[in-house]
Amino acid sequence: MRWSGRRESENIDDRRQLGGSGKIALGGGLSGIIVLLLVWLMGGNPLELMNMMQEDQSGQTGVYESSAEEDSLKHFSAFVLASTEDVWTAIFKQMGKTYRKPTLVFFSGYVNSACGSASSSTGPFYCPGDEKLYVDLSFYDEMKRSLGGGGDFAFAYVIAHEVGHHVQKLLGTNEQYEKLRQKASEKEANALTVKLELQADFYAGVWAYHEKKLFDSLDDTDLYEAINTASAIGDDRLQKQAQGYVVPDSFTHGTSAQRQRWFKKGFDTGDIRQGDTFSMKNL
Ligand SMILES: [Zn+2]
Repeated sequence: MRWSGRRESENIDDRRQLGGSGKIALGGGLSGIIVLLLVWLMGGNPLELMNMMQEDQSGQTGVYESSAEEDSLKHFSAFVLASTEDVWTAIFKQMGKTYRKPTLVFFSGYVNSACGSASSSTGPFYCPGDEKLYVDLSFYDEMKRSLGGGGDFAFAYVIAHEVGHHVQKLLGTNEQYEKLRQKASEKEANALTVKLELQADFYAGVWAYHEKKLFDSLDDTDLYEAINTASAIGDDRLQKQAQGYVVPDSFTHGTSAQRQRWFKKGFDTGDIRQGDTFSMKNL
């Protein structure tokens, strides 16, 4: 993906220095663990104490040491976010609406959001409650290593998918989804979640269509990367990797084929009216 000289978003909240990256050195090994256990047993928060110890040792709030690769990934993510801001602002304007820009939070280890606390193993997520996207940059390596997806555009696709959930929040789709879900059986609820996820993939494709049209920044390998990632993180692939078989009713993101199809439909049309996954029987 060609992006040098492009605008980077200011809606970035870098919380990496606050997270527990697992690198915190406790004073006395085992005794440190016992202290934390005692704090926990007495109803305190061990994480708070760990942060305090970290502050004590460095004389200031722990400074996060970002690698050169993480730094460039951070700039790249800020560029992708800026691009989604431009594209979605224009699309919302066409619909007579105003696009409210979300914030992208970088974290390491764990993070607190309006949706509760999460660890890196959750993967990137969007919280409708505070309209923020949460990303641990180490997910990029994870994606390359274990999911078989990689490349810069694949990471852009992941961010654009989370922005897609934000678009759903702004358009009221998320609220409708929550209402329907409350009345649904577990099987129906899972089917609804698949529709929500596939629509976020579709919106990522719509963004990619406009990004390419406006800036000629994508070539065929980029699209291949995105589709490869979509297929690598499809629920059927993840399930097979984890348990060796597939249980269709517990799908929450859609199959690899569905995710590829909806991303591509967004990318081919660039038209958000084509993405009503909820009214469709066959996805
Ligand atoms: Zn999603």
